Amino acid sequence: MAQIKVSELFYSIQGEGRYMGVPSVFLRTFGCNFKCAGFGMLKGELSSEREEVNPEDHKEYGNLPLVTTGCDSYASWDPRFKHLSPVRDIDSIVDSIMELLPFGEWRDEHLVITGGEPLLGWQRAYPALLGHPKMRGLKEITFETNGTQELDPNFKKYLLEWLQQDNDREITFSVSAKLSCSGEIREEAIKPEIVRGYEAVGTAYLKFVVATEDDIAEALEAATLYRAAGFRGHVYLMPVGGVESVYALNNKNVVLAAMKHGVRYSDRLQVPLFKNAWAT
Ligand code: SF4
Repeated sequence: MAQIKVSELFYSIQGEGRYMGVPSVFLRTFGCNFKCAGFGMLKGELSSEREEVNPEDHKEYGNLPLVTTGCDSYASWDPRFKHLSPVRDIDSIVDSIMELLPFGEWRDEHLVITGGEPLLGWQRAYPALLGHPKMRGLKEITFETNGTQELDPNFKKYLLEWLQQDNDREITFSVSAKLSCSGEIREEAIKPEIVRGYEAVGTAYLKFVVATEDDIAEALEAATLYRAAGFRGHVYLMPVGGVESVYALNNKNVVLAAMKHGVRYSDRLQVPLFKNAWAT
């Protein structure tokens, strides 16, 4: 029986990107190949905020403190918090999804498989999830990925078959490619050929998290590398800020930059609406 280590499973409004405003079930898987400790820090500095959170003080994922710097979903990959993300079999995950859906079945809602990095460790388990009889009504899926993990050939084949079963089905890859403000190394973070590969299966778009003019310039320059590899999708700029105080500092500047450069703006609605609390 296929299993997935699940950090969070919840129902909310998609706050970012192409499906902003769409009621969505979020499946947050455990594990990531990055740390993104540079978010919200001065250039060249890395956050140690998550290291100050003592795992022994918290019995549930949802009670962990939010951080203002570094990755805002740190507990979905930091091994110190892995005990808060149970390994669950597919039947149990599907039953929970049915309980979350307002009508107990898929109608117009959308499934977001996020992380962590959802294409890192669980590609072999997703066919059992998506092919489960109770998941038949699902039409739209987004994988929220950092764009560094190739699709496994068997999973790619499965996704293409899944699309063929119903003309109304759509698969989206929301690629949050990491710029230097994340603290990650460019050669490991910017993988145009891999993202180009996602377009063989579904719609892919790039979503760059930015705070400064330098970040915006770097995002636009990175986008040209993806274009050079044949990437056809849209490019979004999204303000940094897992907490409202940080988000509010630069969201308008990012809107203006998106307009100036003719790219799309992505909000992060979950921050002003729900203060980016867990499970939102
Ligand atoms: S890629 Fe995403 S989940 Fe992974 S560390 Fe960076 S921000 Fe966090």
